[in-house]
Amino acid sequence: MNFHVMTLFPEMIEQAMSASITGRALQAGYLNLETVNIRDFSENKHNRVDDYPYGGGAGMVMQAGPVYHCYQDIMSRIAQKHAEQKTKVIYLTPQGTVFTQKMAEDYAKEDDLIFLCGHYEGIDERVLEEIVTDYVSIGDYVLTGGELPALVMMDTISRLVPGVLNNEASAETESFSGHLLEYPQYTRPSVWRGKEVPPVLLSGHHLNLQKWYREQSVIRTAQRRPDLLERADLTPEEWRLVRQVLGEESYE
Ligand code: SAM
Repeated sequence: MNFHVMTLFPEMIEQAMSASITGRALQAGYLNLETVNIRDFSENKHNRVDDYPYGGGAGMVMQAGPVYHCYQDIMSRIAQKHAEQKTKVIYLTPQGTVFTQKMAEDYAKEDDLIFLCGHYEGIDERVLEEIVTDYVSIGDYVLTGGELPALVMMDTISRLVPGVLNNEASAETESFSGHLLEYPQYTRPSVWRGKEVPPVLLSGHHLNLQKWYREQSVIRTAQRRPDLLERADLTPEEWRLVRQVLGEESYE
């Protein structure tokens, strides 16, 4: 997976991505990261890339020219590798589709992804119309810039790129896979402040363990995110458990 990030703050992206699991994956070559500073494509002698909005109003707007030339610079390198490919250009914006695990799964199948990080009041609409393929938000709130949203997306996508996680299976049982949240996790010591870990986890009985994991996932999802269950594939017995958790049926 090759990530390309158009940003005014490349150091923010590089620092965060170089830590922990993504850092190791970058070193091992499972991921590549290219940050390109939009300011390097400024069209005036003061190195500015923003200007006042037409029509007035608060704040500044990033100009079309520098963003477009930054995009062309990245595309010239991608085209050398695969001329035919239509590369996705993701503009991080609170006005976009809200990012989900399913979207991350689809993006993880791409060879290259270009992220465009806005700042100030946003970016001149004309260049967005010209280059952006996907408008993505990380939630219904407004941040100062697109760098943290781009990092959220890249981190999530990275975990789904083969080789990045040591334990491939862990992504399969995790929250949102199968529209269920993950079961609770425990580690040593087996007793902490008088609280024991559930005995089944110490039993070594594989079948009982799988049953417990699944049951706990269903219970937890019913308790915390019942909205997810609509699309989960549950047995009649599991639906009964859900109704019990939601108080719609009394425990026996
Ligand atoms: N004026 C814009 C609006 O009302 O839609 C908001 C601009 S915001 C202050 C500056 C930049 O931060 C945006 O261009 C975008 O790149 C990024 N941003 C802010 N909130 C975001 C969110 N929830 N998801 C993704 N990107 C966001």
